This record gives sequence, C-alpha cells and structure tokens, in this order.
Amino acid sequence: MSFSALSTGTHFMGTRPEERAAKGRLHSIETCGTVDGPGVRFVVFLQGCALRCLYCHNPDSRDPRGGRPVTPEELLAQANKYRSFMAKSGGGVTVTGGEPLLQPEFVARFLNLCKAEGLHTALDTSGFCELERAKPALEAADLVLLDIKSMDAETHRRVTGVPRDSTLAIARYLHEIGKRTWIRFVLVPGLTDAPANVTALAEFVSGFNNIEKVQLLPFHKMGEKKWEKLGLRYELGSTRPPSPIELERAAAAFRSRGVIVE
Ligand code: SF4
Repeated sequence: MSFSALSTGTHFMGTRPEERAAKGRLHSIETCGTVDGPGVRFVVFLQGCALRCLYCHNPDSRDPRGGRPVTPEELLAQANKYRSFMAKSGGGVTVTGGEPLLQPEFVARFLNLCKAEGLHTALDTSGFCELERAKPALEAADLVLLDIKSMDAETHRRVTGVPRDSTLAIARYLHEIGKRTWIRFVLVPGLTDAPANVTALAEFVSGFNNIEKVQLLPFHKMGEKKWEKLGLRYELGSTRPPSPIELERAAAAFRSRGVIVE
C-alpha cells in the first residue's frame, strides 16, 4: 500500500466521507482503562497507523488491513454497558490506536454519538492527519491527548518515519479552539532526550493555555516481544529506559516554563 494512501486513510471503508464515517476498523477494546484520560474509561483501539515509531508497543495495530470492521453504533452500545463505572469515576470513552486519525470521519461520528449520550470523550492521537480532515474529530473530543514524538524535525522523522508538521498544526488548532489538551512525550535516551529537543518542546507547549499538562513517559521495551512475533527487527533493543535523574531533568525544563508535568 502506498504511503499516500496510508496517510490519507482513503483505503478505509470506501471513498465517500459518509461511507468512511459509517464503518471503521477495530483492533480491540479495553473496558476499564485507567491511563488514557481521567477516571475509568472505555478505550477503543482502532486499527491502522501510518507511523513506524521505533518504540511502538502495539505494532500489531499498525496494519490497516488488520482488525475487524465495526460500526459507531456497535461501539456505542458496548460503551453504554459500562456507563455507571465511567460516571462514578469521572471517566468516559477514549479512542486511541493505532492512529485513530487514520479514520477521522469514523472517529468524529463515534465521538459525537457518545457525546449525545452524555459520555465524556477523549481522543489520543499522534496528530498525523491533514488538519481539515481532522477538525470534526478534534472538535468532537472533550479532551485531546496529543502525542508529540519530537520537536526536532529530523528526530521526529527518525523516530516515526513521518514529518511532524501536521502534529504541530493540530496543536495550534487545539489552542485556537480552546480545546482541553494533554501532551504526551516519550523520553528515549539517545533519541528524544537531547536537551535542545526537550527545551524546544517545553517552549512550544508553554505558549498554549489550553494545555493542562504534559505526560512525560519513560521509554520502555514492553512491546519488544510483539515485534519479534511479527518478524520485525526491534532497533531499540540495546536502549535503556531513562534514569529518574534524566526524567527529572526533562520535567524541570517544562516546570521552569510554568507547564504542569506528570
Ligand atoms: S503512533 Fe502509536 S501505534 Fe503508531 S507506530 Fe507510533 S506508537 Fe505505534
């Protein structure tokens, strides 16, 4: 499949927007997630991703031909079974992946259905999507978890295989519309942890008052076995997780600019 087909998502479920909204491809569901947004969450992992992050912990969710077809209504019916857990904990529904914005029309439709039912909605994305196509999905989310893999353009390409421009355009748009946003950044020793890179990201996010916090995530190798199982070469086999001191140093770059870090 060509890169342009991957990046536009037009290979999914038809060429017309209405067709693409009516059906998506699902990887899996987690019914009581606690790490992708506030409270207890019904987490939808969509199938397909155009990025090739070196540390991907879900490489099996990347192939857009994998997973199974699903409708927004089917997902909503499942989510509704857990609404008492979500309500009691201040939780809701999160759509993640894979890269959910590979199916932006489907995500927008599903999140809007959830909102109409009074469910809190979150979207976890790397922001790799053309802004105009992404807008309805971004607007349908009460909270956006935006993964910025690197501020440095070259490092971003090295880590993910794609440019970072659409991610930054989405960050600016989220600010423009005052959308509650959390930023996620994975600290990888020798890759994303260069002081200039961390400082540039801290500078960038400190200019946006819609960003509530940065989640600084230490690199880990929990996905390595999955890579082996898929016959893929895991390049970061000899990379170690960051030390507490390195994490603290990165966190300080954000805190010193008034950004909350967790
Ligand atoms: S964006 Fe997520 S699913 Fe896609 S390659 Fe990166 S880590 Fe894996």
